Amino acid sequence: MNDIGHLIDGVTVGGAPERTTAVFNPATGEQSGLLSLASVDDVDTAVAAAKAAFESWSTTSLARRTKLMYAFRNLVEANAEELARRLTAEHGKVLSDSAGEIARGLENIEFACNIGELLKGTTSESASTGVDVTTTRRPLGVVAGITPFNFPAMVPLWMIPNAVACGNTFVLKPSERDPSAPMFLAELFHEAGFPDGVLNVVNGDKVAVDRLLEHPDVAAVSFVGSTPIAKYIAQQATAHSKRFQALGGAKNHMVVLPDADIDMAADAAVSAGFGSAGERCMAISVVVAVGDCADTLVTAIEDRTRRLVVGDGTDTGTEMGPLITRDAQTRVLGYIDAGEAAGAQVVVDGRIVDTGSDGYFVGPTLLDEVSTDMSVYTDEIFGPVLSVVRVDTYQQGVDLIKNNQWGNGAAIFTQNGAAARRFQEDADAGMIGVNVPVPVPVGYHSFGGWKDSLFGDTTMYGPEGIRFYTKAKVTTTRWPDASKSRVDLGFPTND
Ligand code: NAD
Repeated sequence: MNDIGHLIDGVTVGGAPERTTAVFNPATGEQSGLLSLASVDDVDTAVAAAKAAFESWSTTSLARRTKLMYAFRNLVEANAEELARRLTAEHGKVLSDSAGEIARGLENIEFACNIGELLKGTTSESASTGVDVTTTRRPLGVVAGITPFNFPAMVPLWMIPNAVACGNTFVLKPSERDPSAPMFLAELFHEAGFPDGVLNVVNGDKVAVDRLLEHPDVAAVSFVGSTPIAKYIAQQATAHSKRFQALGGAKNHMVVLPDADIDMAADAAVSAGFGSAGERCMAISVVVAVGDCADTLVTAIEDRTRRLVVGDGTDTGTEMGPLITRDAQTRVLGYIDAGEAAGAQVVVDGRIVDTGSDGYFVGPTLLDEVSTDMSVYTDEIFGPVLSVVRVDTYQQGVDLIKNNQWGNGAAIFTQNGAAARRFQEDADAGMIGVNVPVPVPVGYHSFGGWKDSLFGDTTMYGPEGIRFYTKAKVTTTRWPDASKSRVDLGFPTND
């Protein structure tokens, strides 16, 4: 049994024995660990450590910060296999998917390695006669990150490298479902040589989150998770005058035009719908079949879906693992029942899947003839359920996206450049894929959706991440010729 505590001020500490929660291996349903849930005191200790570290960390040279970030990057890469193993053991996704998640996280560390360039600021020389104006970006102080279960390594890496490279100190509250990967990342961070207190991890639940939100020494909060909690974070952060960015849920549509390469579109729909058992905020959950391609497309998706191998993510050959919890399994099965009862056609039924274990499995499920009033369409299912909505025109497809509650990603599959370009403008979502089903931006762009997929003004990582984790300071400087100095009560103008 793996006992998991917190990492505060460079030291791994256990928590109070009366507040714990079990961690499970979702592929077997067996308990694999016992996690301490932080108390208010634990959070206060972590914030105090981060606050104490801030003074010297924020004035540490960019050269030193860069060297440490490179060392961290190299350690994560060197330990990627072990990290993937720990991740899969608690999340359930297949090992190659865990490796992919870590590779995307590495991109964010690599971006932060360039902090010298990113924090250069701007200068206007001779803005007025003999006057120079410089804008520099200063760190905020102690910042907190609250992260979801579905990317336990990548999402913390969306936040920590940029925040720390900018000179902030960090308190991370990972998901209580799969805490081992983020704890391992924090160990590697310290091994890289970062000073104690720069990154602290408090494991926990709502108690820890609420304390971070109200703590007077926490300057900003980054959150990624479901929409109701993202809204709550936005409200609480605002009430406590904190800067925040809160990314929520999603329902991503993939529009397939009649001229699309149907095999390629079917490959993409299956990969993006069932990868990580559909537990991705950028998963495709709705395929919008436009015009007369629908029958061929559904058959092509069905063929591929039936061939998927479901099982323990650590087994070579497994393509899709289990869901995260028994509750998630029950919820997803309920949605399939509800979809069928409402009139959806169950083309591939994932309700019965035999993996030979008591894990939280649901097989890949394909629903056709889904309409917009069904709960399988209106709700974020967050499981391996792909719905096909048939429409007659491109405009009806675009309208579906526009009228949807969420706006994380949207994709179009077509061979028509003009249609693709139009979709890029028309689609009411923050991240667009053209023949790309999961358009997660590279680490040097930024990630974030629209509507109920993001609350706050800044998206995450990349240039927007640097903006979020810094505040601007503008300095106006004049070195006048003292012999020309005189009293002048007029408002200063520039000439
Ligand atoms: P969640 O909202 O249940 O949990 C996210 C975090 O909030 C966890 O750390 C959890 O401990 C904490 N939390 C949960 N309930 C809370 C409460 N009542 N008060 C305070 N804190 C609370 O999300 P999840 O199930 O871990 O993750 C899946 C969700 O995250 C999906 O909705 C998915 O779409 C979303 N997600 C979004 C993005 C994005 O970039 N938009 C990325 C990944 C995941």
